[in-house]
Amino acid sequence: MDIKEIPVDGYEKVMHARDTQSGLNAFIAVHSTVLGPALGGLRIWPYESEDEALTDVLRLARGMTYKSAIAHTGLGGGKSVVLLDPRYKTEALFKAMGRFIDRFEGTYITAEDVNTTIEDLEVVATQTRYVTGLSRESGSSGNPSPYTAHGCFLGIKACIERVFGSDSLTGRKVAILGTGAVGSALVRKLVADGAEVWANDLREDRVQALVDELGIHSASKDEVLTMECDVLAPCALGGVLNDDTIPKLGCKIVAGAANNQLLARRHGDDLRARGILYAPDFVINAGGIINVGCELLPGGYNEEVSLSMIRRIPQALHEIFDIVDREDVSTASAAYQLAETIVAAGKVA
Ligand code: NAD
Repeated sequence: MDIKEIPVDGYEKVMHARDTQSGLNAFIAVHSTVLGPALGGLRIWPYESEDEALTDVLRLARGMTYKSAIAHTGLGGGKSVVLLDPRYKTEALFKAMGRFIDRFEGTYITAEDVNTTIEDLEVVATQTRYVTGLSRESGSSGNPSPYTAHGCFLGIKACIERVFGSDSLTGRKVAILGTGAVGSALVRKLVADGAEVWANDLREDRVQALVDELGIHSASKDEVLTMECDVLAPCALGGVLNDDTIPKLGCKIVAGAANNQLLARRHGDDLRARGILYAPDFVINAGGIINVGCELLPGGYNEEVSLSMIRRIPQALHEIFDIVDREDVSTASAAYQLAETIVAAGKVA
């Protein structure tokens, strides 16, 4: 395997690996280990170029530093990406990836991400012990989605409280984009707590199943984004908050699980200018990383510890709202500021 280091300002270590035998072409970026080993998922994506993959891994790794800092997981930020059409995944490729990850000697720890499964990670784990998120039966923390949904639900209630003075969801209207693993679990919690829910997903069957089970409303993507409602919860892909959508939003709050909801940082300011409260995605969707990170605690995975840490997500949002009030900035800016302060304090400690 041919591995070379790429110096990148502001990052501790970025490596590029190419393995002709398995066809692996991958990057691992460790943004920061100031607060602990850099934990972040392994993404497989048919990137058009190595430059595009490198840009993505850098952005994702830094995001993980911020997410873990605010969630106080005791972890740093890192990520890995493989340039590949996921239809062509092979065992040899995941074995090679395992050897590549092992070269980081635990400064980078991997987990599931887009287009990787527990089965893929099990192959990676034959070559390195720095893998989290394996099956519950194997003593690992299992599927993170229910924990992400739980944190998101608590975060939505914190936002409702900020805007309406009470965190009750009774009669509140929530529009959800994306009813996959996290979105569907979130819908169940919202409905159980008295909210009325509208949902859209590319996969109509997923929405229909929730309509049949819970009596929610099916809506088009446009309706979900523009309808007058209390909360819009983006739970599909990133970039949904942009120049095109923000002027048309009909919600008072944006709070959902999707990563990278703002197409650009400045869109956080645009939401604020429209009087919409935005729950920064990397704060409200930290339940999954919290749960996975609990595997690394002395004594191993403990669900009670994980749930108690997830219950602090509303507190983190309130800290961000305090910065907003004090410094007259957007919630997105306040969240970056809070994360950078926590990492800087870690550097000093
Ligand atoms: P998932 O793949 O199970 O669900 C995503 C759903 O979004 C799918 O049902 C898909 O059909 C739908 N979708 C995709 N593009 C769409 C579009 N343009 N319009 C409507 N629907 C669309 O993924 P998930 O695990 O539920 O994650 C959802 C989001 O939350 C992702 O952005 C993910 O990165 C983020 N996230 C997930 C976790 C986790 O624990 N799973 C943790 C943190 C963040």
